[in-house]
Amino acid sequence: MTDEARDGLVALAALAREFGGNDHVIGGGGNVSFKTDATLCIKPSGCFLNAMTPDAFVALDREALSGIRTLEPSPDKRLRERQVREVLESALLDKSARRPSVETPLHHALASRFVAHTHPAPVNGMTCSREGRQACARLFPDALWVDYADPGYVLALTVGRAVDEYRRERGCEPRALFLQNHGLFWGADTPDTLRETYARIAEALRSEYAGAGLDDSWATGPLPSDRRQESLRAVCRAAVGDEAACLAASGPFAVAEGPITPDHIVYGRAWAMIGEPDEARLAAYCRERGLPPRVIACEDGVYAIGPDAHTARFALDSADNGGQVRRYATAFGGLRLMDDAQRAFIENWEGEAYRLHVAVAGQGAG
Ligand SMILES: [Zn+2]
Repeated sequence: MTDEARDGLVALAALAREFGGNDHVIGGGGNVSFKTDATLCIKPSGCFLNAMTPDAFVALDREALSGIRTLEPSPDKRLRERQVREVLESALLDKSARRPSVETPLHHALASRFVAHTHPAPVNGMTCSREGRQACARLFPDALWVDYADPGYVLALTVGRAVDEYRRERGCEPRALFLQNHGLFWGADTPDTLRETYARIAEALRSEYAGAGLDDSWATGPLPSDRRQESLRAVCRAAVGDEAACLAASGPFAVAEGPITPDHIVYGRAWAMIGEPDEARLAAYCRERGLPPRVIACEDGVYAIGPDAHTARFALDSADNGGQVRRYATAFGGLRLMDDAQRAFIENWEGEAYRLHVAVAGQGAG
């Protein structure tokens, strides 16, 4: 490895830790990358950003990655996503390495040496809102807004084309990409410029929210007692079995009304159950949605259930983050929910199931 690559990976691991906390991502979401002319190094799928070390990144050949742009896509969505995975795997320099992030092609689309992708609640307050596109044009005229696209092949192609068009029109690369109902991508040639760009974005949003009477404090009500948590877990367990083996709880807050980003669906499922659960209501939820809820919003608290403690914890984190997004979105006309086709694509997506699996297993191991 060259000195340039080694230094780049050390700087990249520092960025991963900085942008890897709960303020920026949920669970194993988000990613950072570093590129030289020939190689792109990125976080493996599902691994935790804030646990990355310089040798934990996977390296891909950039020329092989460009193959996604020329792929003859199968009309079958499932086969098409497998084709994308095959391109990614064939681009891996070490074939035994872990699976690279499905968002690798988006990192490749930008020429900047360092690229980061996160899902901060203040950013998603704008990207998940009804007036997000207009607000983005007003607040960030040098950024690129990307309408919602299914992650994987469609998003990679959409972003690749949008970045090319931006370059043609303006003669430079967009400073940042705001992905509707998803999150933020931004790039820079040095880690410090990357940090400064994010600080500017965060500050512009902070002052916009302040103008709408929303400060950046986020408080939930008092935590429900252990006894209450245990009795609620018992009710859920009787109705849905091991899917409620574990429970995590928070004080009350207003949850997002429905699916807002792929990560929220992966970790907390699309729809929270609203109101006090009992056996009949849980059964009705399962019939209607096809699966038990992960998040249950009651008057005295927000609860998350799962087959293990980490799944329940991630679900609660995603509900908390979704509550913050919901609150921020009031500054931009309220939440814009994902539609049924967008939601169903994520619910059936193998790439996302894999990511959750790695994240939960990673927690279990350490
Ligand atoms: Zn993402």
